[in-house]
Amino acid sequence: MADVIQLLPEYLANQIAAGEVVQRPASVVKELLENAVDAGASQVQLIIKDAGKQLVQVVDNGAGMSPTDARMSLERHATSKIRSTEDLFRIRTLGFRGEALASIAAVAQLELRTKQREYDTGTLLLVEGSQVMSQQPVACPDGTSIAVKNLFYNVPARRNFLKSNAVEMRHILDEFQHVALANPQTTFSLYQNELEVFNLPAGKLSQRIVALLGNGYKEQLAACEEVTPFITVKGFIGKPESAKKSRGDQFFFVNNRFIRSAYLNHAVLAAYEGLLPRDTHPFYVLFLELDPKTIDINVHPTKTEIKFEDEKTVYAIVRAAVKQSLGIHNMAPSLDFEG
Ligand code: ADP
Ligand code: MG
Repeated sequence: MADVIQLLPEYLANQIAAGEVVQRPASVVKELLENAVDAGASQVQLIIKDAGKQLVQVVDNGAGMSPTDARMSLERHATSKIRSTEDLFRIRTLGFRGEALASIAAVAQLELRTKQREYDTGTLLLVEGSQVMSQQPVACPDGTSIAVKNLFYNVPARRNFLKSNAVEMRHILDEFQHVALANPQTTFSLYQNELEVFNLPAGKLSQRIVALLGNGYKEQLAACEEVTPFITVKGFIGKPESAKKSRGDQFFFVNNRFIRSAYLNHAVLAAYEGLLPRDTHPFYVLFLELDPKTIDINVHPTKTEIKFEDEKTVYAIVRAAVKQSLGIHNMAPSLDFEG
């Protein structure tokens, strides 16, 4: 028998990898917003057309890229964020896998404009399905703009699988919320079909929460803070009477990265025990800071799952932090008055 094994061509490998990283327009939103934050932007603009099916564009005023880096950024496993295994265990950036742009470029038409402060001109790159169609100098502001057009134009099965605009827009808003909550010191705006939906000025976390999630939370926030040598928990929880029937306004961030954790959600609920009206869910935005060495965020390409080395201690401290916050604000039944 002749040898039959061949390496996949690059574009095909990218297209396969894209299946993991890019599920829907919201995945593109997440990756582009995270790149803008990693680039140190103080202003980030998200532009959406047709629930992201036609256009997802992120414009930032961050570090920008050199002409060579602009080209490199589209290669798979190409990243400026880690260099060694040690780096993998002290990650402070949101990205590090060097997969997102390569994956996105494999399944869309991409327009990348970028300029670093020290350059007079920027770079414009046009890419279609992993193919660089052109690269040329262009006049543009400092920072980076990446426009992702016609997502899945070359993968009809995926394109047809996309949900209604309402559903896709909900997913996009979720991603926008996560990044905007985690970075209140950064200005974020969101345009949907040319209309401004959000314009969030830089400010404090409490201001960001109210601007993003509604005035209803204005009088309902209780500060939450617990500092131990192992972990810091900071943020806000909602007073029990602000609990809602619907789930949703519940956010955990670990080292500024949004994560989902049924386990930690349980820790919060345990702290509220006896204080919540039946079948309601409390509001919380909690930021956990701990040594990157003690967590593993490399579980899944989208990195919303996390493994803690010492899960039980994290649970206990989160619960204690929330309990204390509820107590400080005089909402927990006081033991002094019992029997
Ligand atoms: P990762 O974020 O995991 O490094 P990406 O594919 O998202 O991988 O991006 C690849 C590289 O391109 C990044 O490491 C970064 O150097 C550069 N890059 C991407 N987006 C931006 C941006 N908005 N501003 C500056 N550099 C960027
Ligand atoms: Mg990235």
